[in-house]
Amino acid sequence: MRRYDVVVIGGGPIGALTARHAALVGARVLLVEQGDGRGAASACAGLVSPRTIDLFDAPSEAVLRRIKGGRLHLPGGGALTLRAPDTRALVIDRAVFDRSGLEQAAATGVEVRTRTRATRASLGSVVLNGKERVETEVVVGADGPKSSVRDWFSLPAPQQFLAAAQTTVEVTPACPDQVEVFVGSDTAPGGFAWAVPAEDGALRVGLLGPAGTDVQALLSRFLAGRFPGKVRARGGGLIPIGPADSTYGDGVIVVGDAAGQVKPLSGGGLYPGGVCAQIAGRIAGQAGLSGMTNAARLRLYDEDWRREIGGELAFGLSLRQVLFSLDDETMAALGAVLDDPAILSPIEAYGDIDHPSRLILLFLERRAVWPRFASLIPLLGGWERVRKLAADFLSSISLL
Ligand SMILES: Cc1cc2nc3c(=O)[nH]c(=O)nc-3n(C[C@H](O)[C@H](O)[C@H](O)COP(=O)(O)OP(=O)(O)OC[C@H]3O[C@@H](n4cnc5c(N)ncnc54)[C@H](O)[C@@H]3O)c2cc1C
Repeated sequence: MRRYDVVVIGGGPIGALTARHAALVGARVLLVEQGDGRGAASACAGLVSPRTIDLFDAPSEAVLRRIKGGRLHLPGGGALTLRAPDTRALVIDRAVFDRSGLEQAAATGVEVRTRTRATRASLGSVVLNGKERVETEVVVGADGPKSSVRDWFSLPAPQQFLAAAQTTVEVTPACPDQVEVFVGSDTAPGGFAWAVPAEDGALRVGLLGPAGTDVQALLSRFLAGRFPGKVRARGGGLIPIGPADSTYGDGVIVVGDAAGQVKPLSGGGLYPGGVCAQIAGRIAGQAGLSGMTNAARLRLYDEDWRREIGGELAFGLSLRQVLFSLDDETMAALGAVLDDPAILSPIEAYGDIDHPSRLILLFLERRAVWPRFASLIPLLGGWERVRKLAADFLSSISLL
């Protein structure tokens, strides 16, 4: 029987990066992916910060567009427009991005097996394609939002799941360096829709909402009204938000979507998952090499990733709960308060899609805008809700 220090189940971007970092500390690593390894081209808007490209060492061919701004369409016809002086986000080709992750893992010494499904895992062993058993010191579950590894090891699920649907539509974007976001109960109750410029002549148009929402039907209606072009591709899936209460156990850790390491406001999982993958790979690799793989040892992974990004995710979750419970009228009123150069200019100058809480720090230094923010308190549901946001914000900055 083959023996490994670490077996990573799931060869998406997060599994591939985890496997690579485990191999970098010298561990013997097997990565199994049930698909053919060509990547999920249409199931992701592919909007990431430039630092995400560095985190994954992704090749320049993976970058399709550079984004400098965005337009938030509010209920009632109003809109907020942001235009940054420089690139704030990139649109990537997920197929190229994912393939490169697997190639880099293989180049680092990871044994990569595609078209290989883990059908069962338990402490110290993994069954592949229902017939082959391999031994391992550590099992890593990087098997996406519906993680089986979580279930096999009785680990808790992320706190919530959102449903998302996306199409690639043949439309030439009016502003190829701008993304558009649409909110309101008519368009996406409890969520939002987006339009992201992709390859030439194509827009990625998608929509997300609470689990159970018929996002496909809402998206079809939205497309017919706003972007009635020919649909080239359709995709979608679940987006987990609110990290699981525990992401480790004896001989096991979970990472990426499997652990709910996703930005709660946008549903973006590549940056936070990538940060956690580096930690997961290092700690799983070291534990596998030393043979000390009990829960007490693997807890270091849980502690480290929460120290790194746990506060930002908690703040995002609180803010999401407040913002996505607002009715249309309140959202429009909120937009009107924010539509002020004293508020929008600093966001244009310093906004960071991975760290929304840092904007609060910025505004804390600008006394002139405090009265404007004070007028938001009743709109956001009163002092109690704002106090919870403030507490989560403080926990996020104590980790900076
Ligand atoms: C519509 C939509 C739009 C999105 N847009 C963005 C965006 O713009 N920016 C962003 O940052 N994030 C976005 N996301 C989120 C992002 O796609 C995920 O966070 C990211 O893919 C998570 O990577 P992962 O490797 O954890 O999981 P996945 O990408 O789901 O990969 C898991 C892998 O595990 C494999 N697998 C599962 N079970 C097994 C098994 N038993 N054996 C072997 N292999 C297995 C699967 O085949 C899959 O390849 C979006 C998600 C959706 C649904």
